[in-house]
Amino acid sequence: MAVHAHPDDESSKGAAATARYAAEGVEVLVVTCTGGERGDILNPSFEVPEGYEFESIEGRRAVRRLEMAKAAEALGVRQQWLGFVDSGLPEGDPLPPLPEGCFALVPLEEAAEPLVRAVREFRPHVITTYDPSGGYPHPDHIKCHDVSFEAFAAAGDPDRYPGTGEPWEPLKLYYNHGFSMNRIRAVHEAVEGAGLESPFGDWVESRDAREIPERPVTTLVPVADWFPNRDAALTAHASQIDPAGFFFAVPRDLEVDVWPWDEYELAESRVPLPERAPGEYEEDLFEGVRSEVHA
Ligand SMILES: [Zn+2]
Repeated sequence: MAVHAHPDDESSKGAAATARYAAEGVEVLVVTCTGGERGDILNPSFEVPEGYEFESIEGRRAVRRLEMAKAAEALGVRQQWLGFVDSGLPEGDPLPPLPEGCFALVPLEEAAEPLVRAVREFRPHVITTYDPSGGYPHPDHIKCHDVSFEAFAAAGDPDRYPGTGEPWEPLKLYYNHGFSMNRIRAVHEAVEGAGLESPFGDWVESRDAREIPERPVTTLVPVADWFPNRDAALTAHASQIDPAGFFFAVPRDLEVDVWPWDEYELAESRVPLPERAPGEYEEDLFEGVRSEVHA
């Protein structure tokens, strides 16, 4: 179960890994907390589909549902909405208040309940989400972490969230880390080494300047064969992803050579796992799970 804040996040974080696991026969469910109703049009070549509009909350929700269905098809996964409303990314100084009724303002137990219900229905062994900082400071990404962590902790407890189905205890919880400094630096240097303009120049400089502490990456899942699925899923989010923009700025053959993985941090495990030396990585989100489940 891959839990994400908005439609398109499943295509930019861990997308190739979900496509790979789905292709290998794992049942994969993407859960999307909000409808992405406050996303602006970020693709200059985007044209609103015939019969749709992008002005109102309802209009954006409808367009983004259409895009999400295409992305899920490209990844070969099932997808489910939790039904919360996008909080938007507040900008300005001072920051404006969050809009009434948005996901980030829903109290934790109320916000986590539909996810606990989804966990008890779908019964995942592994859940992926974002780290406590959200990965980047969008209030919905932080809330996505909070509800996922809560659901991982509570779904197996018969005393919590009564009326949401039979308890189910997931075995591992991971955080997505698609933009670790190791990856950014490796790709940046390879792109520049090939005499091309890197999309990560400013990024490397500003991250160095801000000295943001890195989250530990524990797991590198080889996924290069599923980059085409990821790219098709990204492109499906036509209102958000510019096919001439950032996400497509790194030549794909170079990416396959330099960084053929999706990266994760193992946050919680209820199965025993081998000790690893620094620099050694787990390669499978289901390590320790397959034997446990078959037993
Ligand atoms: Zn998002």
